[in-house]
Amino acid sequence: MIIMILLTSKYIKNKHKNENNMIKSHGRKSKIIAKIADNNAEPEYLKSLIEAGVDVMWLNTAHQGEEEAMKVVEDIRAVSDQKMCILLDTKGPETRTKGIENPMEIKKDEYVIFTGDLTQIATQSDKKVIGVDYSNFHNEIPVGELISYDDNSVSFIVEEIVDGGIKCIVKNDGVIKSKKSLNVPNVHINLPSLTPKDVGFIHFCAKNNIDFVIHSFVRNIQDLNDIKNILKDYPEYKGKIIAKIENREGFDNREEILDNCDGLMVARGDLMAEVPLEELPYMQKKMVESTLKKGKYCIVATQVLKNMVKNPSPTRAEVLDIGNSVLDGTHGISMSDETAFGDYPLEATNVMHRVMKYTEDKRDELVHFKAEPVSTLPMFTLAKEVVEKAKSAKVTAIVTKISLEANKALSSYHPNVAVYAGTDDIMDFRNMTMGYALVPVLFTTGSVIELKDLIGFDPQDKVLVCEEVDGKLTYNIINQ
Ligand code: PGA
Repeated sequence: MIIMILLTSKYIKNKHKNENNMIKSHGRKSKIIAKIADNNAEPEYLKSLIEAGVDVMWLNTAHQGEEEAMKVVEDIRAVSDQKMCILLDTKGPETRTKGIENPMEIKKDEYVIFTGDLTQIATQSDKKVIGVDYSNFHNEIPVGELISYDDNSVSFIVEEIVDGGIKCIVKNDGVIKSKKSLNVPNVHINLPSLTPKDVGFIHFCAKNNIDFVIHSFVRNIQDLNDIKNILKDYPEYKGKIIAKIENREGFDNREEILDNCDGLMVARGDLMAEVPLEELPYMQKKMVESTLKKGKYCIVATQVLKNMVKNPSPTRAEVLDIGNSVLDGTHGISMSDETAFGDYPLEATNVMHRVMKYTEDKRDELVHFKAEPVSTLPMFTLAKEVVEKAKSAKVTAIVTKISLEANKALSSYHPNVAVYAGTDDIMDFRNMTMGYALVPVLFTTGSVIELKDLIGFDPQDKVLVCEEVDGKLTYNIINQ
């Protein structure tokens, strides 16, 4: 007997046949990820983002506590019938401004003092003092080093070590606020990879079945192991770890980092504050390539549609940036400020949807650089064969009843049609919403043929059905 848990057959049929229904993303293979801020997460807003095409939602814990995060998780799950994949990121070993009550205007060539000792803010009230949320900050940054504020919007050079702080010259005009990121490109700050707040959130993820933990500022395997050691207490938890790479150390160690996690986020915001800007295109492409070669999930993040935070249209360069990321083969592209507090979140989602869909439909015509998994595991060899067969036989869709890992292997060869992936596991379902071309379908029992029939294809359609027998993929092409 076939039991559909959450989706009626009509609903699935609509997903396949009608892109204008609630899940527009099903006409698109690459995925849209949207950052959600707890103070801008009304259920109606979340619903409108899903209707506009958002596939995955991302909660940043740098600015919220567990109680606020729980409310957002509950609301996201309620408006999506539990189906929305949720990413939650740790703060990680990053530093941010702290203790600045009113926005502080600063001018080029004036002096400010940075300090991790927040009592200095009151005792040196005659000077411009910028507090930092890491108490030892001012003891670890030598004279001559550059400090970058909020993804490079203002920069400073350390000129002198003073009592309880570091005196810096301002390199350009700007306004300094609390909770903004600070980067010191050439200095390894001695922060542990997890703050006490992060540790709490790792437990939170395991207890609440959060689909992906994104660990910020991953520099090496030890940073990942810090999370895995906590998760050992939750053997049933199926959530996965994605490493957010935002500095040179993480970039240099990306191969071994990837061998120890489930995917990688190219965090261009912090990265461009950490490395010379001319290196960014090279680094982005190498990171996407390394991730795809390992058959893991890849997300390109930050300032994808920055112009649309305040304006209704994107810049030409932004449109091209989205298209180029799709051509490189990334699984997902994420919006941050655009959906966290921007004025045009639905318009931005629509721009993402249109550019991603159009570009991926032309991908085979345009792609010269093709990163594919290099694994020789039989699973990957067969997945490649299935995807190539689907292309050469010009099928309408692929329908699978195979494991999560086998579906991910199919996804990593960039199928040119949707892969309707039947699963009876809600965590696997949500995991697969991240994968290129994967359209998960909740389906408890029954054959792959029964799943295909429930999805409902047209008489002229040709469908490749794929099953897993004894860990091996077998497939058939069926004319409707
Ligand atoms: P953030 O990370 O949005 O959490 O700062 C992304 C980035 O740095 O690019």
